[in-house]
Amino acid sequence: MSRPTEIVIDIEALQHNCHLAQSVSSASKIVAVIKADAYGHGAIDIARALQQQVGLFAVSCLEEALDLREAGIATPILLLEGCFSADELQTASQQGVWVVMHNQKQLDMLSELEQQEQIVAWLKVDTGMHRLGVMPEASIASFQYLENHPKVSDIVLMSHFSIADVPEDPTTPKQIELFNRICAAIQGIASKPFGRSLPNSAGVLAWPSSHSDWDRPGIMLYGLSPFDFEHTNASRLKPVMSFNSKVIAVRSIAAGETVGYGNTWMADKPSVIATVAVGYGDGYPRNAKSGTPVLVNGQRARLCGRVSMDMITLDVSDLAEVKIDDHVELWGKQLCANEVAGWAGTIGYELVTRMPKRTRRRIVGA
Ligand SMILES: *Cc1c(COP(=O)(O)O)cnc(C)c1O
Repeated sequence: MSRPTEIVIDIEALQHNCHLAQSVSSASKIVAVIKADAYGHGAIDIARALQQQVGLFAVSCLEEALDLREAGIATPILLLEGCFSADELQTASQQGVWVVMHNQKQLDMLSELEQQEQIVAWLKVDTGMHRLGVMPEASIASFQYLENHPKVSDIVLMSHFSIADVPEDPTTPKQIELFNRICAAIQGIASKPFGRSLPNSAGVLAWPSSHSDWDRPGIMLYGLSPFDFEHTNASRLKPVMSFNSKVIAVRSIAAGETVGYGNTWMADKPSVIATVAVGYGDGYPRNAKSGTPVLVNGQRARLCGRVSMDMITLDVSDLAEVKIDDHVELWGKQLCANEVAGWAGTIGYELVTRMPKRTRRRIVGA
């Protein structure tokens, strides 16, 4: 037997979540966001599992799109940051890869495209995130430039939410309103139909008024809620990634003894400590604090002491007998990655996405 640390990817859960996105936003087409190796889940496997269900994938950059093409994925793919050079635009157009255009430089690259090539352009408008996108005042001119350009076959107008995970915040309604106003103004001058794309997962789940031609769920496909409160739609999500390992040592220590590097945790009573074969070298967050929940045989134990590169230590004093080889879930079906993330000062998105190559990945439910 080899070191028991692994992530298990549940394809049935993934397909369920995608189906949920589609049923919540039934009039929209789903763009499955699989950037950053499908948030650490493995982009090729995720794309294979979703290609019957969705008509478009989204990644950050051309390299990610070409990896999918090489693996035989034929579905259109959108580059969320667009192209970084005219060469890339050329390749994208030949590969059925669609591009976001968010600045003048990217619009200018169109003139270098070879005669026979055409491209689907997604014009990104900045409605308040203030990260990417042409400013609202410039949106009509940019749209007209694209519409009149012989190399552009179709246009989609898009924007992105900054705080759709907080329903009481007034920003999202303002972003929706501004986006609708821009679309209406462009509708007035456009000579043929164009598409619209607005919501991320939080928008899909909680902002029906944001549903558009192409909705762009990411995190919800992987079964993690974008909200830090209970939400009816989000409660129907099924976690896709389970991060598992096993107990490899158990010892009893006296009150006053410390555990792990830096002696940061001290037993206040005689305690039982279980050592688990997982550490920050496997993707477990080093900044997880003592007290972070970890499941041993389905029971909640608490992390004690610092996370090492290859190991963590748990206080299992209050659990039924814990033995070598007992099953450990770091996060997954019974312990949400979002809860663990809270103990590590981050969000579930980051925990799943930064999973290192070293950690073995096993696919189930396909
Ligand atoms: C990452 C991303 C998404 C998906 O966001 P989630 O919160 O994971 O649903 C959608 N649109 C854009 C432009 C993105 O960059």
